[in-house]
Amino acid sequence: MQIKSKLPSVGTTIFTVMSNLSNKHGAINLSQGFPNFDCPEPLKEKVNFYLQQGKNQYAPMPGLPILRERIANKIADQYHYTLNPETEITITAGATQALFTAINAYIHPGDEVILIEPAYDSYSPSVKLAGGIPIPYLLKKPDYRVDWNLLKSLVSAKTKMIIINTPHNPVGKILKANDLIQLQEITQNSEIIVLSDEVYEHLIYDQQEHQSILRYPDLMTHSIAVYSFGKTFHNTGWKIGYAVGPEYLMKEFRKVHQFNVFTVNSFVQYGIADYLQDPSTYLSLPAFYQQKRDFFQSCMEGSRLKPIPCEGTYFQLFDFSTISNESDFEFAQRMTTEFGVAAIPVSVFYSEAIDEQMIRLCFAKTDDTLEKAGDILRKI
Ligand code: PMP
Ligand code: GLN
Repeated sequence: MQIKSKLPSVGTTIFTVMSNLSNKHGAINLSQGFPNFDCPEPLKEKVNFYLQQGKNQYAPMPGLPILRERIANKIADQYHYTLNPETEITITAGATQALFTAINAYIHPGDEVILIEPAYDSYSPSVKLAGGIPIPYLLKKPDYRVDWNLLKSLVSAKTKMIIINTPHNPVGKILKANDLIQLQEITQNSEIIVLSDEVYEHLIYDQQEHQSILRYPDLMTHSIAVYSFGKTFHNTGWKIGYAVGPEYLMKEFRKVHQFNVFTVNSFVQYGIADYLQDPSTYLSLPAFYQQKRDFFQSCMEGSRLKPIPCEGTYFQLFDFSTISNESDFEFAQRMTTEFGVAAIPVSVFYSEAIDEQMIRLCFAKTDDTLEKAGDILRKI
């Protein structure tokens, strides 16, 4: 039978492609973003405790009440945003599901969604599956900053959503207060919903403050923010996160959520709810990952790969244009197969054919792995 693809131009994600290639060639995998160290032992113990206690049946559809309460407290402490955990938070199967659910709850066929590219790879297919039309705003090397006047020129009567991501994967830049204020000006008195992907909220360096959309009550009247415990607690394989937004938006979100996953595994929710009682577990993250960023940078000193300053996330971009004329895809492949260090080519995060000869490396790795990678990469 011939089926008509809903995503004809989509193949397997670059993360799967590069991790597979890396495994095949025994390379050091700095491509797909995940830590190569384990998540905290006390967290595993708590989750295991609730598993053994028999917390193994369905949790309530929007998520465990105690977990939602603890998230609301965390948000109040960090961003001074008060919300009702009953109606304004939903626990999701990772941020990917939260993004997909939000897009499918609000986007109708023909609606336009502005994406800031390079963009995380799930946004555009999720918009297309909802029948929406992705409208890219292009960030360019080396500074990768948003010019909000230019972005504003993309807004039309059909614009229903703008997706932002701070700290930004893959470029490692963060939005500043001034960016959020301009976004507020563009979207106030409009029909535009802002979808704010903040999965790297705690991976932010040099004493900078994360400009969560939750700090901007006027923006939060028409916004949804999404988070991932996978990034915060070093357990990307657990696939658990949450979405936050005003009740009228969360109501529609939950309509889609309940038929998408219905609810997320219970014992993990219990375990995380316990673990969240100690804020030092996440407040220590900026220092933890800043050490990794700086250590990796020191390992790369003298390399012909030129780093773009990283303000947040666990990704570091490098410009390889002085080394090779290859496309970034070819170069990333050769890095994996010939040199033994796997990378992600940045062009995959653009919908247009834009290749600025940049690769992304993930530094969420043990120091010995980063050192070994540096030893190889300095010789290229
Ligand atoms: N958004 C961004 C920007 C990401 O980098 C990721 C990474 N994995 C996700 C969303 C998805 O998070 P999760 O694994 O919780 O689905
Ligand atoms: N977010 C991770 C990255 O950017 C990978 C997510 C995935 O593999 N789907 O590398």
